[in-house]
Amino acid sequence: MASQSPLVVKVGGGAGIDLDLVCDEIAALVADREIVLVHGGSQRTNEVAAALGHPPRFVTSPSGFVSRLTDRATLEIFEMVYCGQVNKSLVERLIARGVTAIGLSGIDGRLWQGTRKDVLRVVEDGRTRIIRDNYTGRVERVNRTLLDNLLTSGYLPVLTPPAISFAGEAMNVDGDRAAAATAAALGASELVILSNVPGLLADFPDPTTRIPYIRPGDLEPLAQRHARGRMRIKLLAAAEALACGVQRVLLGDATAPRPVARALAGEGTVMSGEWQVASGEWQVARVKQVSELI
Ligand code: ADP
Repeated sequence: MASQSPLVVKVGGGAGIDLDLVCDEIAALVADREIVLVHGGSQRTNEVAAALGHPPRFVTSPSGFVSRLTDRATLEIFEMVYCGQVNKSLVERLIARGVTAIGLSGIDGRLWQGTRKDVLRVVEDGRTRIIRDNYTGRVERVNRTLLDNLLTSGYLPVLTPPAISFAGEAMNVDGDRAAAATAAALGASELVILSNVPGLLADFPDPTTRIPYIRPGDLEPLAQRHARGRMRIKLLAAAEALACGVQRVLLGDATAPRPVARALAGEGTVMSGEWQVASGEWQVARVKQVSELI
């Protein structure tokens, strides 16, 4: 195995993403470089939640980020889909391609730890209100020892939310930000975030308006101007990764072959450089590497 730092790849769960193509490429790349795969699954979760009579609800934070409202029932549906179906189908695909993949949620071995935000402030119809019974949080600590042990033993970790709170409660976390925290904790030089768009588009959904390169200082204003919904969180995750020492964050398109190589070659949106804390509203989080068992 080459001495390069591990590559962290996050693959989303949006319509049109081809997980077979992603797994084909990862199976080829892992011969030269350690890889950690982080995945989403929000579209499938929405479908299953609706089928189970508990349709998804999304809320907007005062700083404009959209997230899934996660009560206990939603958390359990989320676990069924992310940890059960999506995680195992990725592990199965990778094993079929000769890769010794191992699926873990952020709960397992306290891989992703953080503080549960049980009370949430949301904006609805222009008014701020408080929501309780919320099972979400943010990854503040990554159990690097666990990941190092798996990588050294030749396993390819396939990681999924939820994470675990410091008090030991499962909590939903954003997959892009968890991937950023993981890349930071591993000292990864690159984080590739794959979804169903070619990158950040100045005029979504027009693919000809892709923004090829963003300097850290421009991330927040560009996000305010162009990114809607979940794309804003991807850019926040990118800022967090850069703030924690990841050198390049690459947004790429997982609907066509060789998405990782194309993203690394700059065919999506490249973000690199040192994050300067701007005067804006983004609270860029720093993650702790946990190098002892916690
Ligand atoms: P995933 O589930 O793959 O993590 P998301 O669906 O959460 O990805 O985020 C990607 C989505 O962000 C795109 O499918 C698109 O609908 C949305 N989006 C909003 N604004 C933009 C933009 N300016 N450029 C590209 N995508 C955008």
